[in-house]
Amino acid sequence: MLQGKTALVTGSTSGIGLGIAKALARQGANIVMNGFGDADGPRAQILEAGRAHGVKTGYHGADMSRPAEIEAMMRYAADEFGRVDILVNNAGIQHVASIQDFPVERWDAIIAINLSSAFHTTRLALPAMLKADWGRIINIASVHGLVASACKSAYVAAKHGIVGLTKVTALETAPTGVTCNAICPGWVLTPLVQKQVDAKAQERGVSNDEAKKLLLGEKEPSMHFTTPEQLGELAVFFCSAAGDNVRGVAWNMDGGWAAQ
Ligand code: NAD
Repeated sequence: MLQGKTALVTGSTSGIGLGIAKALARQGANIVMNGFGDADGPRAQILEAGRAHGVKTGYHGADMSRPAEIEAMMRYAADEFGRVDILVNNAGIQHVASIQDFPVERWDAIIAINLSSAFHTTRLALPAMLKADWGRIINIASVHGLVASACKSAYVAAKHGIVGLTKVTALETAPTGVTCNAICPGWVLTPLVQKQVDAKAQERGVSNDEAKKLLLGEKEPSMHFTTPEQLGELAVFFCSAAGDNVRGVAWNMDGGWAAQ
């Protein structure tokens, strides 16, 4: 379905971004990877997922908090692959603290990585998408783009912000073949959430498994984590022809979290 297209997925060396990159590769899209840490292991998984289509991968290690590095990454993608057809803004970090104790440096980093980076990639990807009259921009927001939790001020502000950016991008592209939508996951068991499981286990003096149940029980009625594979399939749907007129939605996959 996506042969000949190129998808750039920020933060695709881990977790949700890797799951989405694999799902898009399975449909034949070439993947430009980004993110910190080991890239070879994730790259092998993406190549394996796209093997039937002979997909190609690239990698750029831009720090999403730095606009100049984001510009270099977008130039790299255009030079190596022609253009970015599918942009998945996924890179993100978390910090948990009350507002009065929130480190200013963490606030700035979260706003830069979880929100401003998507403005930069979007503004740089749009001209070629509009020229081709086809494109998909998928912003990985969060259920925290729809509702709040205490002690996550920067994250909730950034995620509400990216839902707003999604709607504006969708409106500005509405008469074209470019769509923009957001995905809003509940708990997904990635390194980002494992840190919160560890903190809960420590705070309550319980096992890892008990801490996971406590975390789910507080927020997610299904008592199941959403998986990167499930989120990848939702991204594939947004990229399909059936998604041509889905514009500006913030689609939660959250086990009922936001329904409460
Ligand atoms: P993760 O920690 O597994 O992956 C984060 C990715 O972003 C990694 O590849 C990391 O290297 C990259 N990254 C972090 N800072 C970066 C930077 N400055 N520049 C470039 N890359 C950077 O986390 P995840 O859970 O897969 O999170 C992915 C996205 O999904 C985030 O935007 C997160 O807010 C969102 N999300 C996660 C959950 C969850 O429960 N895990 C729920 C809702 C939304």
